[in-house]
Amino acid sequence: MKQYTHAWLAMMAMKRIEYAKIPVKQQDDAKALITWFKNYRDLVLQGAWYPDSVFKDMSNSHIAKYFPLADYQKKGSGLESALADDVGEIDGEPEEVNDENPKIRIESKFRKMPQTLRMFNRGKGSVLYDQPYIQFKRHNLCDRCESFTESLIDSFKILTMENPGAPVIPSNNHIAMRFFILSHYIADGHMPLHCDARSFYNKNEVHAFIEKMWDDQVQAAYKIDEYNERFYYDKDGYPLLNEDTEPSPLIKYVEKELRDRSFSWDWGDDNNNTWDYMSGISQYSYLMAYDLIPADRDPKQISTEYYLGTEAYQKHFEEYSKIILGDAVESIAKVWLHAWCRYRSWFRDHELAILKAKTKTAQTVFNATDKIIDTHPGLITKKQDAIEAAEQTLQTREDDLNEAISKGKSVKTKTESRDAAARKVEKLKEELSRLEAELDKAVSYWDIHQAVYIAAQLEMKSKEAEIEKYGKTNSV
Ligand SMILES: [Zn+2]
Repeated sequence: MKQYTHAWLAMMAMKRIEYAKIPVKQQDDAKALITWFKNYRDLVLQGAWYPDSVFKDMSNSHIAKYFPLADYQKKGSGLESALADDVGEIDGEPEEVNDENPKIRIESKFRKMPQTLRMFNRGKGSVLYDQPYIQFKRHNLCDRCESFTESLIDSFKILTMENPGAPVIPSNNHIAMRFFILSHYIADGHMPLHCDARSFYNKNEVHAFIEKMWDDQVQAAYKIDEYNERFYYDKDGYPLLNEDTEPSPLIKYVEKELRDRSFSWDWGDDNNNTWDYMSGISQYSYLMAYDLIPADRDPKQISTEYYLGTEAYQKHFEEYSKIILGDAVESIAKVWLHAWCRYRSWFRDHELAILKAKTKTAQTVFNATDKIIDTHPGLITKKQDAIEAAEQTLQTREDDLNEAISKGKSVKTKTESRDAAARKVEKLKEELSRLEAELDKAVSYWDIHQAVYIAAQLEMKSKEAEIEKYGKTNSV
């Protein structure tokens, strides 16, 4: 797909997250995603085009190609040239096609997808559905989508954990850019010719023709600020329709469908993540390719000129385009929202962990204060008794010393005993005043420490309740 198509699909996905009926469970997170996203929408034309303009990993990461096994077994099927293009030749001969070949795999399983996908519903009626196919192992579009999804979540985690200004911190712009880059790979998976191993006439000129058809419609439908490489926006912040031109039926369809189509949170049956989902998308995209360009002649003879004369083009091109681009918007919105909800879920747990630690500290402080008020009065009484006893001892020693002095006896030992008794009294009094000071402080701070502890508990419980609400409702 071309630059404006990619940027437009990403903007339509954003619009879908805002205007489709998102399941109650994900509504709050969806709103938060849109609020965040709208700050970075200007990056879309550059971001969604980055894989083509900079990464240039088209020959393996923008594709996940398939070929019907039965067609390979027919002579002149076109797989030889597909192998030459996509796998490579050894000594001028295509490699053998069997399960031992390290470059391909042969399977017949098709994934079950959400009912909201039109490509899936259509694909189930295809003659190639559930028929064995050859798949090329080096095509890693699904891996690319999965790793970009994970890296989005990881980047948000780094952004949360690091102090502002930390050198390792990713910027929000950077993360938004990666959302748009991810949308490119997802959209490419929906372009049937990115999933079809046939090689058409003149380096697949028909592929470029189809993508140009779509891109021309996008460029004609919207006002574009070409100097700044961005869309002009309507009052809601989405691409502004060009008042001078009537949008094509395709554009109108996608704009309407993004609101009307029910939003399914599911990945579909056995699918659990972006990889599984995109793997299914590529399978139905492959089936769609055989509707878009039927296998009724040698692919090498299918030029744009020939294609323009076919029934597939003349009667069905618009309908197929609607299915393909409508589903692309659906999938981008789904993958984005899943990634965002996973980050938000992690973030809520992270916030709860902080509140738990804060509550534990407040509880420790409050318990210590409470214990002082409980036990110090007893300790003080004991200390006072000890002082009284020590003072009596001191008095006895003092008397003994005075007696020795008056009798003119040696006073060294008696003096030492008297001094030791005096030091003990002094020490006990110091301990008493420490206990009294601690008790005074505890009494005056008790209310505050209790209030801080209760406040921390309330904050923690409210976060727990919030998480429980999401736990019940979100399955991220
Ligand atoms: Zn691409």
